[in-house]
Amino acid sequence: MKITAAVAKFPKADFEFAELELEEPRDDEILVRIAAVGLCHTDLVARDQILPVPLPAILGHEGAGMVVRVGANVSKVAEGDHVVLTFRSCAVCTRCLAGEPTYCEQALALNYTGCRPDGSKAIHDHGAPVSSNFFGQSSFATYALAYESNVVKIDPTVPLELLGPLGCGVQTGAGAVLRALACPKGSSIVILGGGSVGLSAVLGAVIAGCTTIIVSDPKAERRALALELGATHVIDPTAEKVNKAVRRLTGAGADFALDTTGAGPVMDSALGCLRPHGTLALLGVPSNPEQRLPGLASTVLMFGYTIKGIIEGDSQPDSFIPELISYYLEGRFPFDKLISLYRFDQLNQAVQDQHDGKIVKAVLTMPNHLL
Ligand SMILES: [Zn+2]
Ligand SMILES: [Zn+2]
Repeated sequence: MKITAAVAKFPKADFEFAELELEEPRDDEILVRIAAVGLCHTDLVARDQILPVPLPAILGHEGAGMVVRVGANVSKVAEGDHVVLTFRSCAVCTRCLAGEPTYCEQALALNYTGCRPDGSKAIHDHGAPVSSNFFGQSSFATYALAYESNVVKIDPTVPLELLGPLGCGVQTGAGAVLRALACPKGSSIVILGGGSVGLSAVLGAVIAGCTTIIVSDPKAERRALALELGATHVIDPTAEKVNKAVRRLTGAGADFALDTTGAGPVMDSALGCLRPHGTLALLGVPSNPEQRLPGLASTVLMFGYTIKGIIEGDSQPDSFIPELISYYLEGRFPFDKLISLYRFDQLNQAVQDQHDGKIVKAVLTMPNHLL
C-alpha cells in the first residue's frame, strides 16, 4: 500500500517526505494507521548514524494509532483497536521469559537493524528497499507494521495523539524510578537533565513518594517546569557545582542519581551527588560512542556505589503503559505538560525546536489528508 513517510537519507540532514510502498502485513504483523508519533532523541541518534541503522531509513518509535489489519497468527489485537507502539522483544528468550523484555537477547536484531530478522525490508521506494522495522514499527509514516510484542492495547476513550511517548521516552524516565530503581517512599533522587526523560522521572518520583526530588538543567524554563511537575529543588549547573548543591540540600548526598544526558562531565558530577551505597542510573545514550563510565574504580569501591544502565525503564509495556495512563486519568501523571504538538510535515521544525530547547517533547500528529 502507499504511505507517506519521513525519510532519513543523510546524517544530520533534514528528513525528506516521500510517498513509499509498505508491504501487506505478514502472518505475525499488525498494520497500524498512525494517529501521532513522538520524536525521541534515539531517532536522531539513528539518523546521525551513532546508532548505525542503514540509510535511507524510516525511523520513528513512539507511534500511537489504530489497528487496520492483522496477520493470520495475530490474536492480541484486532481491527479498530487503539494501540501504543513500543520496543519489540522476542517473547521467548531467557530475559523475555524472566519478564525483562527491555533486555531481550534479540533486541538488536528486532529493533535496530532496519530490516526484519530474515533481512527483508517492509518499505520500498520505486522498488528500492528502504530501512524499516525500526523498533519494530518505523512510525514516522502514515502507516506502520508492528508485532504482538510491541503493541499495547489501550482504552479508546483516552486521546490517542498524546500517548505515543509512553512507548519510549516517558516509560524510560518514569520506569527508571518506579521499576528499575524502585525508589522507596521517602528517598532522595537527583535527576541530571530536564528533558522529556528527566521530567518523566520527576513525575515517577512524585508517584513513588520520593521526598527530595532535585533536577539539574541549565535551561530556566525546564527548571520552572520541573518545579511545576513536583521537583522539590532545582539546580542551574552553570551557576553552581551540582554535587556541592546536592550535598547542601541533602547532607550526605542523594540515595539515587539519574543521568539522562549521556555526557561524560555530567555523569561524573552525578556520581559525586551520591551518599555512600547510593545508585547512579544511566539512561542517556552517549553521543560520544567512546564514552567511558564515570568515576574512579577506587571511589566506586570505597563508597559501595552501584552504577546501573537502564533500558526503557525496565518496563513491561503491557502492564506499565496502562498503569501510567491510569495515573494520568487520575491527574497524578500530567505527562501532557511535556508535549508540544506539531503536524507530521513539521517534523524538521520540531527537531530544531527540540534541539534548541524551546520544547521538551514534540508529538507529530498525522493530518487526515495524508491518510
Ligand atoms: Zn527476548
Ligand atoms: Zn526513544
